[in-house]
Amino acid sequence: MEELLKVNHLEVSFFTDLGESRAVKDASFVIGKGEVFGIVGESGSGKSVATKNILRLGPKNMKVKSGEILFKDKDILKLSMRELQNLRGSEISMVFQDSLSALNPVYPVGKKMVELLRLHNRNLSKTDAKKQVISLFESVGIVDPERCFKSYPHELSGGMRQRIMIAMAICCNPDLMIADEPTTALDVTIQAQILHLLRDIQRERGMSLILITHDLGVVAQMCSRVAVMCGGYVVEQGNVRDIFHNPAHPYTQALIASMPRVGGGRMEQYLERSMTDNRDQEICPFYGRCRHAIDACADTLPTMKTIEGNHCSFCHLGKEALHV
Ligand code: SF4
Repeated sequence: MEELLKVNHLEVSFFTDLGESRAVKDASFVIGKGEVFGIVGESGSGKSVATKNILRLGPKNMKVKSGEILFKDKDILKLSMRELQNLRGSEISMVFQDSLSALNPVYPVGKKMVELLRLHNRNLSKTDAKKQVISLFESVGIVDPERCFKSYPHELSGGMRQRIMIAMAICCNPDLMIADEPTTALDVTIQAQILHLLRDIQRERGMSLILITHDLGVVAQMCSRVAVMCGGYVVEQGNVRDIFHNPAHPYTQALIASMPRVGGGRMEQYLERSMTDNRDQEICPFYGRCRHAIDACADTLPTMKTIEGNHCSFCHLGKEALHV
């Protein structure tokens, strides 16, 4: 696999009046060229915080404490603001969950996209930029692109707005797109359409895609590899097939067991309990909810152990966890 992005030992914290809250802890993962990589976990698992830092987006009280984010071998964390602005949109773009807040409410969506295109290409005339926008709208399946061009975000449906967000994200031909829960706010049928659209665009353009989701079904449908996050840590990582057929970490096992099934499945009781407050302790983030815990789990942080090939798990039990 040819590497495009490498996140190494990333540590991110939020600082408030109440002190420091560690959101991402020692997270490492690699994205290959042309690959669809999933990051899955519950709310508060650190999946969005980890990826927002790839574009250095996030509130002022969020700080990267250590680690590196190498994109084409350059550390994004060391780029100047100017270099970062050149990177955003043109090499790495992002699609957010809440398209209504992400789009500017006082601008017609087409006008905003014309500006965006001309920002990245100052020689582009307004007329040519408009032609490109209309063609981009067509490529993301917008049926009446001329009308959509003049519309304000609130005049469009959620699915239509998400198509606009995707058109914006691909307008400068990025090498990597990050989609943060891109379908969570949509109806089920529209969700499927948007996932198909993302998949088609990714294949046509050979672009890499990071898909952040809490939905393992989306991962199974879209991704080749996945990282599972819990309490700020990456607790399991590997090929989607291995993770689904042979989940090694008790948290992943519980996530898979709690997936809804036709005819109704049994919700695993220990996932119904909310995240335990282990954030400031150097112990397994799943301790307190894990029914396979051993004595060492109460006071020692596990290490990442290889299960097989690129499949690895952050658990004291290692391969034994496969049989718990
Ligand atoms: Fe469970 Fe211990 Fe493994 Fe954590 S390290 S998942 S508590 S067995």
